[in-house]
Amino acid sequence: MSVELQIQIDDMYACLGRCAGCVLSTSERRVTRPDMTEEVMDKALSRVSDYIAELKPSVINITFGIADHFMAGSEYVEKIYRKTAAVLKSNGYGRGNAGIFFTTSMIGKRDEMERKIRYFERVKEDVPLVPVVILDPTNISHPKLAQQWVETSRITKEVFGMVEMAVNLSTIACNAITPQQLMDYASDIGFAYLNVNWTPTVDSVKSGVYDLDVIEKWLLELAHLTSGGETKIRTSLLAHMLPAHAGLRTFDASESLAEHLIKYTPNMHPYSWQISHEGDVFVKFDALGDVPQTPRFGYRKFGSIFESSLGEIARRSEDEVRRDILREYVSDSRCVSCPYVKACSMTGYHIYSHVVGDLGRGRECPHFAKSVWKFLDEHPELDVSSMREQRFY
Ligand code: SF4
Repeated sequence: MSVELQIQIDDMYACLGRCAGCVLSTSERRVTRPDMTEEVMDKALSRVSDYIAELKPSVINITFGIADHFMAGSEYVEKIYRKTAAVLKSNGYGRGNAGIFFTTSMIGKRDEMERKIRYFERVKEDVPLVPVVILDPTNISHPKLAQQWVETSRITKEVFGMVEMAVNLSTIACNAITPQQLMDYASDIGFAYLNVNWTPTVDSVKSGVYDLDVIEKWLLELAHLTSGGETKIRTSLLAHMLPAHAGLRTFDASESLAEHLIKYTPNMHPYSWQISHEGDVFVKFDALGDVPQTPRFGYRKFGSIFESSLGEIARRSEDEVRRDILREYVSDSRCVSCPYVKACSMTGYHIYSHVVGDLGRGRECPHFAKSVWKFLDEHPELDVSSMREQRFY
């Protein structure tokens, strides 16, 4: 079985963007320097190195998030890249089975951005470095920003060879661009992959940036577009849910949800972690993009890189993770009687259920997971292997 280890290191919160669906607050984005110190970064990478040696995954994805790394300068991005590439290479990983990703909003003065991007023409290592460019769809009608963003994205593609796009869903974003426009925009520039993220935090849910009906309609339209044979660009939307949906045909109907989780969580949570700028460790899941169990979503940390290895944290937290998942499904009568509950429990949708609260009241499902599962029922021709994320350039 191909096993992917995903580690997200949150070293940078600075950003000039203002995406409505961003997990960060305005004051967090206002900084201009990395939030993670070099001491924390080095410790995090040393823990990651030990964990790779212990777990021996098939492929590794290390992503530096959350905001705009170019605000710290190209030299900074090069530094974290070289340190991470050294960790991967020392463990026998490189092109073909590992990738290093970093986020950027690509907002800045045109010439300055070009200089920052072209800096990487001289940075060559045998581990792919892939920028993940965050698009705020409200900017595509901006008279100046839109053109500039397209130009800098094209230069990024030219320099790095591969570039991905990310969109943070919100009602505002869904009203600003249709899925068709977004796909056309992404394929015209040459993006290889579209990350569709929905990360409603405790604070953003309260401030009302999400209308579930609007987002659901938008997502289903995107699902229709990307399931056709003519799609030019892959997205995270169906790739994350198809494997769990395929399992519905083989899950043991006589097993309770608790028994099901005991069987399947060992294949999930030890492989996906998020490390905060302070070195706290959180478990992360696939849903609409990646969604972690952090305090922003109403959860606590499982440990710290300064106290334990990632392997110890994984072993210690196994029961707790299972309880966190189970609690959301058994406490909601809609989920208890839902035919998709076992598939759902293998994704991060329990975090959405935990955080949306009143927003989902009156719906058949606390959010829109059920609509996507139903969409997959109607498209048995979609197979897991054709939609799998192939991001190891
Ligand atoms: S699809 Fe919705 S109702 Fe069904 S188990 Fe998942 S969250 Fe609950």
